Amino acid sequence: MKLSLVVPCYNEEGNVEFFSKEVEKTFKKQKIDYEIIFVNDGSKDNTMSKLREIVKTSKQNIKVICFSRNFGKESGIYAGLKASKGDYVCVIDADLQQRPNYVLKMVNILDENPDYDSVVAYQEKRREGKMLSGFKKSFYKLINKVSDTKFREDASDFRTFRRYVVDSVLELKEYYRFSKGLFSWVGFNNYYMPYEVEERNSGKTTWSFWGLFKYAIEGIVSFSTAPLKLATIIGLFLSLFTSIYLIIVVIEKLLFSIAIPGYATIVVLILLIGGIQLLCLGIIGEYLARTYVETKRRPIYITREVISNEKK
Ligand code: UDP
Ligand code: MG
Repeated sequence: MKLSLVVPCYNEEGNVEFFSKEVEKTFKKQKIDYEIIFVNDGSKDNTMSKLREIVKTSKQNIKVICFSRNFGKESGIYAGLKASKGDYVCVIDADLQQRPNYVLKMVNILDENPDYDSVVAYQEKRREGKMLSGFKKSFYKLINKVSDTKFREDASDFRTFRRYVVDSVLELKEYYRFSKGLFSWVGFNNYYMPYEVEERNSGKTTWSFWGLFKYAIEGIVSFSTAPLKLATIIGLFLSLFTSIYLIIVVIEKLLFSIAIPGYATIVVLILLIGGIQLLCLGIIGEYLARTYVETKRRPIYITREVISNEKK
């Protein structure tokens, strides 16, 4: 098998059929042996019955992995990569924002350049508001400062890997899977290919601003321990300042017998230090919580059923 397409689907009833047809159209004239692996990530609509229909009727190699509930796109990608058999594996969305003809380009790039191990599609022009893109910019600036793993701002999840890259990603068995980070953590040579993102074919995005914010925190906590040092640094500075201030207060009292500053200063200091302590505790908590979940070693996803039309 030359190529596997891994397609995570969550409530994509309006898209999967069209997606399958588009892929068929794109690959018709190509002599590429390929499979499509749909991962139904606990969809609450009719995605599964649409997928059943596709398995029954399509002439392509189709496999459907159905989860027992919604585990998130990252788990879907993991399951898809695990089931893939292709020498090349492409991760692509079901909503046709990423057109299948780009997959052909990616395959060609890998065919022609043995020195590249994966092709990463990036958006030349972002189609989003100024505020969101501003937040994203600051997130990438921050994470690149605090993490040893480097993140390219415009890179997407839309990627094609060689087999050994997929195998390396699969070796990372952590529960919290910040895919972009995992892909860049394993290393290898990436070819960055510009692409234009389309409008969603049907349905709407699952990302809310709050969701993105949580995902950003996820990324930082997963790929950097720098925030943990914050407590140490703040603690050091505070102790230093307090020692100096203590000396000043004592000298003032002894030499000039000036009254010790009163109520307001004390209240402000107590609140400030209390706040900083809670913040630091919270940060430690974030890491502790993840450690706790990771130590349980729960599976990344649970399969309800797998269907396919192999050997057709
Ligand atoms: N997706 C998924 N599980 C989820 C959320 C999303 O498998 O919990 C899939 C979704 O079906 C789509 C892809 O991930 O194929 C990207 O999702 P979406 O279009 O909502 O994100 P966006 O394109 O806006 O980044
Ligand atoms: Mg989308």
